[in-house]
Amino acid sequence: MKLVTILGSTGSIGESTLDVISRHPDAYRVFALSCNSNIEKLVKQCEKFKPDYAVVTSSESAILCSGLLSTKNIQTEVLVGIDGLNAVAVDDAVDIVMSAIVGAIGLEPTLCAVNSGKKVLLANKESLVMAGHLFMQAVNASDAILLPIDSEHNALFQCLPAMTKGDKFSGVKKLLLSASGGPFRGKSMEQLEAVTPEQACVHPNWNMGKKISVDSATLMNKGLELIEASWLFSMPPEKIDIVVHPESVIHSLVQYVDGSVLAQLGNPDMRTPIAHALSWPDRMTSGVDDLDLIELGRLNFESPDPVNFPCLRIALEAARVGLDAPAVLNAANEIAVQAFLDRRIGFTQISEVIEDTLDATIFNEPESLAAVKDSDTKARIHTQKLISKIER
Ligand code: MG
Repeated sequence: MKLVTILGSTGSIGESTLDVISRHPDAYRVFALSCNSNIEKLVKQCEKFKPDYAVVTSSESAILCSGLLSTKNIQTEVLVGIDGLNAVAVDDAVDIVMSAIVGAIGLEPTLCAVNSGKKVLLANKESLVMAGHLFMQAVNASDAILLPIDSEHNALFQCLPAMTKGDKFSGVKKLLLSASGGPFRGKSMEQLEAVTPEQACVHPNWNMGKKISVDSATLMNKGLELIEASWLFSMPPEKIDIVVHPESVIHSLVQYVDGSVLAQLGNPDMRTPIAHALSWPDRMTSGVDDLDLIELGRLNFESPDPVNFPCLRIALEAARVGLDAPAVLNAANEIAVQAFLDRRIGFTQISEVIEDTLDATIFNEPESLAAVKDSDTKARIHTQKLISKIER
């Protein structure tokens, strides 16, 4: 029996993880759950999975959560804030930590899980985007096993030779990162100026949270994923190509020097990478339907459009610059996306404020977690200022 902590259990990755776990009650037990604001859903999950701990963000939420749990006679203990998250990530009883918190806040508990040698299932992109160097250093220095959950990175992991920590892969020429192109693929800049948060949050293939849906619509998500892939598989950004593939069936590919290209295919359902990583190196059922190639008939591919989707170009530039540019990029993007969701700025202004923030920054080597946080905070303040100048 493996004990699992799910950081960010009420989001779409968290829910999919619980769905997979519920299919294998003899193999996995939930040790801890955590949420940002959806206390009601967290309590429902506690009712079903009876974890030892539930972590919430504030003492008000804790009072609310404890009250609901005790009226239902559930024994789950409620913990609060970053200390609570760190505690359930490192607890001796825990075997597996699913890191599915969205945003910069997920970095610290994920690093805690790595440092205590857990099997870490990484869905939080920001850990690698913000602090890739420090994060991979910690992974290589620890007994932790790091398994990527993002569908593209999980696909690459499956197509690459077996990993030894710190090693370079031999014979790999390029990584080909799949991109759906998002809901606005083929639209012009003019059409993009008028899009609403509602339109940006409807993804053609994947069912995801709001932040990542907007990132998919701007293609920033693909830029962040390229940075993530670069760290995970020690590949320089110029050896990673992006292939737009609107059906989201091929989740990514590895091109070898002998001309072989290996791909991982499947229906677009996050339960596949989650089940793969939970059971790795074994395999287990996930609840995902079999892929029907005959029904699909054909798959399409095209090149990305960095002109109408400048976030992709900006992210690639930040990847090439390195240093703390990706951390600044990520911070500016988080602020800009929230401002778009709050209808303070338009869709095309997201890339403008991110680029202006990067242009105004002198980049440094982030030598510690504190330095990364400092770059992150400064970038957020700068982006907020830009937004208050232009908001409508
Ligand atoms: Mg992805």
